[in-house]
Amino acid sequence: MSRVLIIGAGGVGRVVAHKCAQNSGVFEHIVLASRTLSKCEQIRDEIKRMQGVNIEVSKIDADNVEDLVTLIKSVKPSLVINVALPYQDLAIMDACLLTGVHYLDTANYEHPDSAKFEYKEQWAKNGDFKDKNLMALLGSGFDPGVTNVFCAYAMKHYFDEIHYIDILDCNAGDHGYAFATNFNPEINIREVNSKGRYWEEGEWKETEPMEIKMVWDYPQIGPKDSYLLYHEEEESLVKNIKGLKRIRFFMTFSESYLTHLKVLDNIGLTRIDPIEVDGCKVIPLHVVKALLPDPASLGPRTKGKTNIGVVCEGIKDGKRKKIYIYNICDHQEAYKEVCAQCVSYTTGVPAMIGAKLICEGKWMKYGTVNMEEMDPDPFMEELNRHGLPWHIIEMDPDTTFEVK
Ligand code: NDP
Repeated sequence: MSRVLIIGAGGVGRVVAHKCAQNSGVFEHIVLASRTLSKCEQIRDEIKRMQGVNIEVSKIDADNVEDLVTLIKSVKPSLVINVALPYQDLAIMDACLLTGVHYLDTANYEHPDSAKFEYKEQWAKNGDFKDKNLMALLGSGFDPGVTNVFCAYAMKHYFDEIHYIDILDCNAGDHGYAFATNFNPEINIREVNSKGRYWEEGEWKETEPMEIKMVWDYPQIGPKDSYLLYHEEEESLVKNIKGLKRIRFFMTFSESYLTHLKVLDNIGLTRIDPIEVDGCKVIPLHVVKALLPDPASLGPRTKGKTNIGVVCEGIKDGKRKKIYIYNICDHQEAYKEVCAQCVSYTTGVPAMIGAKLICEGKWMKYGTVNMEEMDPDPFMEELNRHGLPWHIIEMDPDTTFEVK
């Protein structure tokens, strides 16, 4: 039985809190803390009503290490689940080191002033976590997260060597708005506007944003335009999957989404540097964020499904082999269960599962750890149990889900 502190009461934090409450046999005491207390209180009341479980709430500025240390000392958790924004990762990791508590997050550190995410600064804390016999599980969402576990599972059970990985992320949900983002608008737009990047034959290759488009025929969804982006799990998978020759990441975007984004871009509204307006300094992207619907409000309106998975190709017993492992999640079903749409659901469930495995001692390795470094089997079992069942298609290596 463990005490857990969840930081961040957004779309993902709501799902983590619900799912921990559903597993109160493991998480005996749950505290949800965030910048805006009223959001925590709303989730607390919802969980009492829907899950019949009491959780505690608290207000925290997670950029402030001293305040975090005080909170952690008063809650005394075994683990902190960080589902605030990537900007808070380093402060929360430092607070965990100072208080001797395990750490878990779903997105790697990003500096607010530069739209660049990488593991460098988090991996630099590996020695500190090891020295204190603590685990920092990095990227326990869906992508990163489940996609890394899918690759580890493929490696363990299907391949001697994996040579090619394509990570395919399709959201075929419709929220009925002309333009809205499914998770934090600032993080989402920064990610989509960054240059594309993939790894091939030992080096990173850079593309312009949205330069490479492919059409993938997603099971249970159908063909969708999918664009090559750089995504953070590629950085650790390149390091941890031996023999890899290429890894790419594709995400679907509708024509309407891309047209809106282009207009915002063309007029400078996606800029992250401050500009002066009537004597006030404002960051254009913050204005856009303030005007767009709160992703948490999309839940009741979003219909359709997501399909996220990995296609792995390689060698087993000297023969070529190719498999596709994926999950399908239904927006309306997720909303019925935890009042959130699939993008939050598919992130929050793996965060709870990572936390559960750590608290049960089934996943424990000191230092900063990426998901594919752990035994995938218990995680895959938990996915089936907690709302994210997966499927495997063993393919003829000469076939593809790409529509030419
Ligand atoms: P939201 O913007 O909905 O929620 C973020 C929450 O963090 C908000 O409640 C916000 O508070 C709180 N917060 C922000 N800054 C602070 C701070 N300084 N101190 C305390 N609380 C703070 O985001 P999401 O829930 O959609 O995303 C949460 C995380 O999950 C992000 O890091 C995101 O990148 C990651 N993610 C990962 C995915 C994956 O598959 N791996 C997929 C989707 C998201 P307030 O409401 O007061 O602003």
